[in-house]
Order: sequence, then C-alpha cells, then structure tokens
Amino acid sequence: MKKYLDKLPLQLKRIIRQAQAASVSLGMPAYLVGGSVRDLILGVKHFDLDMTVEGDGLFFARQMAKRLSAGLVIHERFKTATLMLPGDLKLDIATTRRESYPQPAALPQVSPGGLPDDLARRDFTINTLAVNINPGQDHQIIDLFGGQKDLAAGRIRILHALSFQDDPTRILRALRFSCRFGFRIETATLGLLKKAVKQGCLACVNPHRLRDELILLLKENEPFKPLRELSRLGALSCLHPKLKVSRGTQTLFRLAKQQLDWFAKNFPRRRALDRWLVYFALLLAPLSRAQIKRVIDRLSLRKGEVKRLLGYYRQRSKIIYVLSRKEVTADKIFSLVEPLSYEAVILLKTTVKNKYLQKHLLEFFAVYNGMRLCVGGHDLGCLGVLPGPRYQKILAKVLKAKLNGQVNGRRAELVLIKKLAAEK
Ligand code: ATP
Repeated sequence: MKKYLDKLPLQLKRIIRQAQAASVSLGMPAYLVGGSVRDLILGVKHFDLDMTVEGDGLFFARQMAKRLSAGLVIHERFKTATLMLPGDLKLDIATTRRESYPQPAALPQVSPGGLPDDLARRDFTINTLAVNINPGQDHQIIDLFGGQKDLAAGRIRILHALSFQDDPTRILRALRFSCRFGFRIETATLGLLKKAVKQGCLACVNPHRLRDELILLLKENEPFKPLRELSRLGALSCLHPKLKVSRGTQTLFRLAKQQLDWFAKNFPRRRALDRWLVYFALLLAPLSRAQIKRVIDRLSLRKGEVKRLLGYYRQRSKIIYVLSRKEVTADKIFSLVEPLSYEAVILLKTTVKNKYLQKHLLEFFAVYNGMRLCVGGHDLGCLGVLPGPRYQKILAKVLKAKLNGQVNGRRAELVLIKKLAAEK
C-alpha cells in the first residue's frame, strides 16, 4: 500500500501523518477504510478520506480537528464526525462497529465491535479494504473479503446472501458503482439483486435513505446509465409505478449536461447549481403533475428543493407561452424568470427548442439577472419617501425603466425617482 500512499498529494499525506500521531498519543488504532482505499488503489484523482478508529471515534475526531485546524461536524446519532478541510476536502471519522438488521430494510442496530465487525457490515467487497495507518504497521492492506481481487477484476460483489434484503439501498449503490467504474455485477450478486427488486424490497426503505441514495446516484457524472439499469430492472417503480426512462430521457440528460456545463463555464460567480435536481426533474418529466407531487412527497425532499421543483412545474406553460414570441420586453422577461430558480431556467433551456425563448433566457442570464439600481433607499429618503408600498413601487418602476433601456446610470435614475416621487 505504501506505493499508493507515497503518491498522495501533500495535503492528504499531512492528514495521514496527523492521524498517525493522534492514534499513537490516544492509543486508538486508526484505519483508512472503505471508498478511500478503493479510490487510492484505482488511482482516482479527487476523493474524500474515510477513517475508522478502534476506541472513541468522536474523541479522535475532535483531536484531529484541533491538529488540522479544521471545521468539525459531529453526527451524534451515528457517532460519526466530518472534518471540513481546505480545498473542499472532507475527512469522515467513525468508530468501528457491528451492525445487525432486526428486520429487512430497517435501520441497523449498532453495537460496539472491532475492525473485522466494521468491515463485515459493509456493502461490497471492493468497499471493505482497510489500511492500518499506525507507525510500524507498514501500511499493509487488510482484506478480509477478497476486495483486492474483485477490484482488479472489476467486480461488484456483496458479502452475504441477505445483503440486499438487509439494506435495499445497496441496489442503487451496486448500479452506481458498477456504472461509475465500468465494473460488472458478479453473477450471484446480480441474481440476488434482481430477486430483491422483484420482492419489492425498495418500497420498504425509509424514504430519507432512499432520497439520499437517489441524490447520490443523480450526482454521478453520468447519472443516466445507472437510472437506465434501474428502469430495466423495474426498480424505478419504488418511486412511481409508471416511472420508466426512455431514449427521450437519455437525450434530455445529454442536453441538460451541455446546459449545466455551459452555465458553470460562463457564469462562474453565480450560485453553483444543484445538477442532480435538474436531472431529477427530467426523470420525473413523463409523469403528470399529481404523480410528480406524490413522488416528491414520498421522498420528503427538503423545502428549498420542493420549492424550486414546484415553481418550475407551475410556471412552465405560462413562461413557454410568453417567451416563445419574438418581441418581449425586458421587464416582462425579468418579472417572469427572476422568481424561478436557476435550475428551473436550465430546465426550460434544456427542454424547449423555440429560438426566441432560448434568446430571451440567454438575455436573462447575461444581462437582466442580478441587475441592480444605482439609486436606493437613501435617495428616496432624501426626497421624503419613507419605506413602504409607495417606496417599493417607485423602485420597481425605475428598475423596469432600466431593464427596458429607458434610463442608464445613476444620474438618469435620480431624475426618474425625483419625477416619480413628485407624482401624487
Ligand atoms: P463515494 O465515492 O460515492 O463517496 P464511498 O464508497 O466512499 O463512495 P460512502 O457512501 O461515502 O461511499 O460510504 C463510505 C463507506 O461506507 C463505503 O465505502 C461502504 O464501505 C460503507 N457504506 C456506505 N453505505 C453503505 C450501505 N448502505 N451498506 C453498507 N455499507 C455502506
């Protein structure tokens, strides 16, 4: 393993050195584990670090946060912690534990356990590898389930026959990893996966866990592939019985990726988009509004996400109707599009070909969005107009004039507010 660790960027090496020091001073053996060992061996460029500690992972995490001057988020319920490090890097630290499932698809019961228990609770052999990072351990890979062989062969394999029943979210995970790495799902594992889908295991999963796993899948670089596999297996029916993906969905995903990349490249200072939300809306596109609402409720998406999605579905027809015309005033474009989320605007750009609508939406992003007045409350105050409905009305009128190119610059805006303030 040393050859892989030696190739790590300096920042990761420093983290591992600090973990070694903390492990020695606290007398708690610490291991690099799971996806980070897998990614190290595969030569993945950017990945987060996962560590597990025999002892008290939370105490270890606090010490590490001090040593690295890192932000710390403690997940008390799961007894895990995340350290937030510069460069968007995350370090997850947990205590080694044993997990058992009181009934299929239930949340696991957690009890203390050593490293072998912790590795045995994992999803696939390729995610069971660990490296003892303590000094004197020579960074040997601990491989209790043949993970290295499966990694070399490009194979996704579960650890025991009831794995998908215990935790059906592993169905999504298997397809996600298989598509991400181009790995094959081993024959017996695939048979058990199909059986679990047929038994309707996914319908029993806690909605939050299903939502989180679906979001992870939609965040993949190419989310269409695992979705197509899920659809072929009939597994998307856990969201809605009528949900399927088609060639049309594939085309929309491709177009959405182009639009999302275009936005990221051309507007790097604007809020980063939730790309997964755009793909999610496209996935649900074949359903009716009522059916979509049912899926959204079932997954209990967060408030902000629901607002962005429903805003899009609600306004879509009206916006298409108005913006598909050649002549639309700038203030009309602004008043229709500004209340939408960026994700909704990207969805419109992805799904509607009309050249006028495309032009108006481009103008929105490039010019109108975020347009600010040069005059403000202070100027109105000097004219004796106090905050209230009239004050708002005047500013809205000035903005409208500015959007339509009727005023340009602070002096012209001042002239206009003086005129408007003087009106009864
Ligand atoms: P990614 O690169 O997508 O983050 P990862 O393997 O690091 O992949 P995480 O979801 O961060 O995935 O989980 C970290 C580790 O925890 C996994 O490698 C796996 O060993 C274990 N794990 C996560 N989810 C499950 C699950 N549902 N069942 C069993 N083990 C799991």
